[in-house]
Amino acid sequence: MVRTRFAPSPTGYLHIGGLRTALYAYLYAKKNDGKFILRIEDTDLERYVEGAVDIIRRTLKDAGITYDEGPDVGGDYGPYVQTERKEIYQKYAKQLVDSGDAYYCFCTKERLEKIHADGAVKYDKHCLKLSREEAEKRIAAGEKYVIRQNIPETGSDTYTDLVFGDITVDYKELEDNVLIKSDGMPTYNFANVIDDHLMGINYVIRGIEYLSSTPKYNLLYRALGWEIPKYIHLQPIMRDERHKLSKRDGDASYEDFIKKGYLGEAIVNYIALLGWSSKDDTEKFTLEQLKERFDIEGLSKSPSVFDENKMRWLNSLYIRELDVDTFHAKALPFYEKVDYLKGYDLRFLSELLHSRCEVLADVGRLTEFLTEFDSFDLELFVNKKWKTDCALARELIPSLKEVVKKGEENLAVNLENLAADKGLKKGQVLWIFRIAITGAQSTPGGATEMAHLLGEKKCLERLEKVYARLSK
Ligand code: GLU
Repeated sequence: MVRTRFAPSPTGYLHIGGLRTALYAYLYAKKNDGKFILRIEDTDLERYVEGAVDIIRRTLKDAGITYDEGPDVGGDYGPYVQTERKEIYQKYAKQLVDSGDAYYCFCTKERLEKIHADGAVKYDKHCLKLSREEAEKRIAAGEKYVIRQNIPETGSDTYTDLVFGDITVDYKELEDNVLIKSDGMPTYNFANVIDDHLMGINYVIRGIEYLSSTPKYNLLYRALGWEIPKYIHLQPIMRDERHKLSKRDGDASYEDFIKKGYLGEAIVNYIALLGWSSKDDTEKFTLEQLKERFDIEGLSKSPSVFDENKMRWLNSLYIRELDVDTFHAKALPFYEKVDYLKGYDLRFLSELLHSRCEVLADVGRLTEFLTEFDSFDLELFVNKKWKTDCALARELIPSLKEVVKKGEENLAVNLENLAADKGLKKGQVLWIFRIAITGAQSTPGGATEMAHLLGEKKCLERLEKVYARLSK
């Protein structure tokens, strides 16, 4: 059975790149009726951020990426939090020391700095020559130590990555990395092997930064007599051609995009395309469809550039699929952030905005005319198609006020009659009326809808203001 995992370090919010790794691992497991596991890699105590595990769990849940086993849901291979597995790593580290595949190292920070200052590019195996007795004596005396992997000095490893093909790395390019740190905690270099094996992970899906260190891990698998999993390394997501999208880019987290008014489904859909494409180039996929369609052949060998405009476009398709009530419910928190919308008929606004929003936060952008009215450009009255201008606007406004005063019920008909009375086209009157009450060239609805939104009192106020400006 296929078993994949997502193994984030709880160092802050869940970056889009991390979420994509989780998504691919999830999709690959589900496509193959397998299991998807969440494992928290929290052994780097200095980078641990309080609350980060909650963010990871919340984000995965919200995005629909459900794990079959993990810290809160349990499973047969737990614990799923690395700091709770300390003894397990200790045990296997000892086994590797026994077999000569690892060794105790007592080198001080000062010595390591010195050898590097003297030109060493990697650790010089200084402590490998210590006898086991001597090392154990020093440990018993309370000396600080780490356990390092003993990488062969010659030879190489070739393994097959399912995306990149055969990868060969000479052992001389690898360093005797620390497996167990002086605080007793394992490093990633060690814990990933132990856990992936003990948790039965047979497809390891992770970032490309691990591609060239994988031979180190393969040495550990072999030393422990374990089967090496299949590897799938993923290219990074880029901000532009040269820079990776990074946590520092501020809005690169799932939650930030939700705050900007993206729908979870659209984010998931978009990030699925950042490094994978379907055979027929379809771009809109629900999570269910992705589960069926996802395949390793579609994974990209080159990095993908994050394109927020494309995500906006996809999001607009998802928004359009919502019925107005659902849209309204989702838009409410966004209306609440826009002060000037207080007092307006928001349900009515939702009817108008539903098909016009690309992201929910557009409810602000699309209604700016409600605040920016006083200073609008009177040249908007000049319209070639309708042959309207400021003079005609000034002439019409008093009659428009009369029409508004007649109430909303027959507004459309009354406007039409006004046009007929004045020998104008309906479109001319509607243009002037809409500009006069909104001050905006494009509005989320026609003249009568805008009049309804504003209500009689505001319409009259606005008509008066415009009239005063036109009369100056
Ligand atoms: N904890 C590692 C990270 O966040 C996981 C890498 C992996 O998937 O093996 O980069």
